Parts: sequence; C-alpha cells; structure tokens
Amino acid sequence: MAEAGSFADRVKQQADIVRVIGEYVRLKKSGQNFTGLCPFHAEKSPSFAVHPTKQIYHCFGCGVGGDVFKFVMEMEKCAFPEAIRVVAEKCGIAVPRQKDRSPEERKENQQRSVLVEMHREAQTFFVKQLEGTLEGKAARGYLEDRGLDKETIARFGIGYAPSGGDILLRFLKQKYPEKLLVESGLVSRDQNGGRFFDRFRRRITFPISNESGKIVAFGARALGDDMPKYLNSPETPIYSKSNVLYHMDRAKDALRRQDFAILVEGYMDAIAVARAGISNVVASCGTSLAEPQIKLLGRFTRRVIVNYDPDTAGQTATERSLSLLLEQDFEVRVLALPPVGNKKADPDLFIRERGKDEYLRLLKEAPPYVDYLIARARQMDLTTGEGKQRALNFLLPYIQKIPSGILRSEWATRIAQQLRIDEPLLRSALSKAAKERRSEIKTAPELIGRAAKPVERRLIRMLAEAEGFRHDLAQQLQNAHLYHGLETEKIFAALVLASLSGQPLQATEVGALLEERDRRLLFEILFEEANEPTWEEAMSCIEALQHRQAEHELADVQRSIEANPAAPELRGLLEKKQELMRRLAAAR
Ligand SMILES: [Zn+2]
Repeated sequence: MAEAGSFADRVKQQADIVRVIGEYVRLKKSGQNFTGLCPFHAEKSPSFAVHPTKQIYHCFGCGVGGDVFKFVMEMEKCAFPEAIRVVAEKCGIAVPRQKDRSPEERKENQQRSVLVEMHREAQTFFVKQLEGTLEGKAARGYLEDRGLDKETIARFGIGYAPSGGDILLRFLKQKYPEKLLVESGLVSRDQNGGRFFDRFRRRITFPISNESGKIVAFGARALGDDMPKYLNSPETPIYSKSNVLYHMDRAKDALRRQDFAILVEGYMDAIAVARAGISNVVASCGTSLAEPQIKLLGRFTRRVIVNYDPDTAGQTATERSLSLLLEQDFEVRVLALPPVGNKKADPDLFIRERGKDEYLRLLKEAPPYVDYLIARARQMDLTTGEGKQRALNFLLPYIQKIPSGILRSEWATRIAQQLRIDEPLLRSALSKAAKERRSEIKTAPELIGRAAKPVERRLIRMLAEAEGFRHDLAQQLQNAHLYHGLETEKIFAALVLASLSGQPLQATEVGALLEERDRRLLFEILFEEANEPTWEEAMSCIEALQHRQAEHELADVQRSIEANPAAPELRGLLEKKQELMRRLAAAR
C-alpha cells in the first residue's frame, strides 16, 4: 500500500489513472467514468471502467479492480516497487535511487542507460557525417534523388555511416569500453573474435526509437549495391525488434485522434507517409509483425490499414500480419497499391510518383481484409476442383476469425459467388471451422457482484463520497447498529471506520480490508451513475433501514411468542411486539 507521505503516495497523488491506463486500454468518456475493453478478459463490448476522481478501475465482467499501481502490476506482471517506478516514469516524476534494488539490477539499469547514451552519441555522429563530409555529400545526393529534402532529413534524424570501417568505433572508444561497444550492436567483432569494426558502413542511417522516443537501434540502407540492402541493429539489452514499431513515438497522438493506424513495412515507407502529412503511420521494420508489436499498437487503436509492399514477400507478410491482427480482434483493411507505370509500388514510390492526394483517396477506399483475400484467392487456379479446394483452404482460417455470424454468412455467399464454389458445401466447411474457434471466456455467475438493496447501495456511496456529512452519517449508522446483519455488513463496517477517521476516502485502502467479493461489490457501487447525495436523502435511507430492522425484530419476537415461553417472558415479548408495531405503523 501507498503509505501517506511515501514516494508511492506522492506518485499516486500526481498520477492520472486515466492517462496511465489509457496507454494500455483505449478509453472513452462515458458519463462520469471512462470505459473500454477489459485487458484482463476477452470481451467484445466494454465493461472495464476507470474512475477519474476516485482514481480506481473496475471490470464489471471479470471483477478485477484497484488503483493505478495494481493495474500496472497486473499488466506488466511486476511487483509493487516496479509498478511505482513505471507509473512515476510515465508521469514524468523523478524516481529516487532505490537502495533495495539488487546489485545485478542496478548494474543492468546502468548498462541500459549507457547504451541509450551511446546511441544518442552515435546519432549525432551519423548526422555530422551526412552534413559535413565528402562521403556524406554523395549520400545527400542519393537522398535528394529519393525526394528527401533537408527538412525531412532533419525531421527524421537521417544520417550517414561512413565506409572507413572503424570511424564510429574510434569515436566511441574514447568514452566507452570495447565490450560495451559490442553489446550496443553498433560495433561488431570479426568471426575469430579479433578485430572490432563498425557494424554500419557506407549506409544511410535511420534512428529507431522506442515508444518513449529514446533511440535504441538503427536501421541502415546500403548506399550502393552492398548486400544486404537493409541492415538493422541486432537484438541488444535495449532493443528487441518484435517490441518496437518504427515511428510509434511520433504517431501516438495521431493514432488516438484518428483511431486507426497505417501499417507499412519499412522506415522509408513510414517516412514517405508521415511526410505527406499522415502521422498515424508505423512500420513493422522487419519481415512481419510480431505479437508484442500488435499489443503495443492495440493500446492506441484497434483499426489498422495494412499497406505492405506488393511483392511476394510483402503479400506473405500481409497475410501473416492479418492472421495475428484478427486474432487480437483488430478491424483490418488492406491497401494494395496499383503499379506505377510497370513498377510495383510501395508507399514511398507511390506517393513520390502519384502524390499524397491520390494515396489518401486509395487509403479511404481500402477494402476490408476479406475483399483483399478473395482477390488473392481469385488469382489461384480455379478451373479444377483441387484448385478451388486450395483457394478455400487459403480463405477459411481468415473467415472463421470474423466474430459476427451475420458477416460470416454474407462473406460465405460472396466467396461462393466469386470463386464459383457450391454454397452449401462452403457453409458446412465454415460452420465446422467455426466450431473450432476458441470461444470467448464466459463470466462465471459467482463473479458478478451480488445484488445489494438500493438503500444499502446508496448509503455505501454516501459514506464513500459525501464529504459534507460522511462523518455524521457514519456516527448514526454505528450508534443504531443499523447495518448489523445486512449482507453488506462488512462493507459498511469498513466504510464507517474510514469515515469516522476524518480522512478523505481511499477506495483501494478500504477495498484492501475486504474480502474479494465485498471489494468487488464496493467498486461496482462506486462506479454507478449517481446524483449528488443530500442529507435529506441520507435520512430517508436511514429510516428505510430502521424500518427494515423493526420488521426483522418483529418477526423474531413473533417467533419467540409462538414458541410458548413462560408467562413473565411472554409479557415482555408482547409489549415489545406492540412497540414495534406502533413504530412500523408510524413510519408508514
Ligand atoms: Zn475484465
């Protein structure tokens, strides 16, 4: 728990839970809360809610809930201290040095920050090489030919790695040990472990930043005919290619605003599209998309237009990406650009030759992925039964991923028509495939919050937020033992205690005192849409509880009377019964 005055407490005070969770889940404002698809269970309609003022989240589907730290712990699968650090970093709060970090951890962290620093230095070096050397001049010429002007070069930090073989190495060696240089991936060592040399030579360099904008790797394109044409940094302690999307750091805002992403293959494509004023573009920067990259993207949008190269490798990459994206419930369209002249067009070439307006037009018209796939299937040999079977086998895995039965059925008709396949046959294949689809996790009934009576819910809510009279209300409830015996007794007890303390309510701290099912019910109540509470309303709720209490007592007394007690007791019971009946009658 965040102890008052501790660093954790300070972070919690300053952190905006909506912003932090918003980096993992797409949240929409809905009434007083924000809602989105729960990241902890599979669902199609949002039951996950974040409360901006109470600074808590709650899922009405699977029941998870807590504060910003709990969320990060669950999401990042990390421990509390790590969660504090993550939240602090996301909110730009300086983290004090942790004494309790293990020496190895400290060493690794230190190494990582040195590697990042090294990349920053290398970036400055590459940029200088491009600007100020003879070789760089030739590289600039090449870039100009590709339509990249000075402004673009500066904007994307494009640089040049000279051909010398160890110029960067000599530059970095002044400050860093050779072992670390090799770790950084900027320097390689020859096969028999002898000579060190620059990894990138005679290449145009493109800095690759992680999501938070730190340069963690480089991509490099050969200037001449050197192979390979594109060479990237290897995996290092700060870079894993399946975790990074090129241009993500700059695309974030546009992705959120426009609610869709354009996915391209390489950095040249991303630069071309971004230059055309379309900022919501990212590049997978490698062969095909990996699952961590999709998860990263999914934090900002779940709609993607895939615009890979039209060559065979690009098609294969498109189809593999489609599968992954559909598995993660993305809405996917595919833009297959038409050839320019007789050349197959990647986004870079297309925008250069045909202009950004034409690109934008095609982008708007990009068909749903199924249309793209049908077009692909139609290119197969459909004259034989075998050929048709192959085409169908190609399509089925994608079609079965369509969540809506109606849509699936529409597509079945279309596929049958377009591929001239017998429709009933196709449908039976589809329904067989559909049965194999992994089903959504169903919410178990016992996980749904128990029904509490409206009066109890209302009082619980008031104890949690009626700053003006929580204390008095708690006093009354406690003095009259009004919540004893209620199903919500424990929730009341915890809230009354908290209200009497005179401190503002910390929902997660009250929740921590409760059993899980009570904690869920409390959070559920806190998220209900409700009016500003008034003291009059509180009093009428109290009356209702008193009434209920009297009814219960009356029933008890009646049972005791019917048990034929001895005379003196009977008299007392009858008097009590009279009294209770008077009270109930008066309340009516
Ligand atoms: Zn959930």
